[in-house]
Amino acid sequence: MQTCYQCGNELEPGYLFSTKDGALSFADEVPSSFENARHAPGFVELTAPKIGGRTTLAADICRKCRRIVIDY
Ligand SMILES: [Zn+2]
Repeated sequence: MQTCYQCGNELEPGYLFSTKDGALSFADEVPSSFENARHAPGFVELTAPKIGGRTTLAADICRKCRRIVIDY
């Protein structure tokens, strides 16, 4: 069990998921919808596009700090 680096509470395991078929990614700034997101500075693809289902990613949550921790 991981602990929150800020408050030390145990993190609860769970999943971050999308409400539709979108993929999740990370970048230093959110790219506009007109540019290729892969070219954004600091881009990391977290999940691949998935048609017809929820995109999910294992994640841990600290409900006290309202923080979600994701490994990729
Ligand atoms: Zn915490």
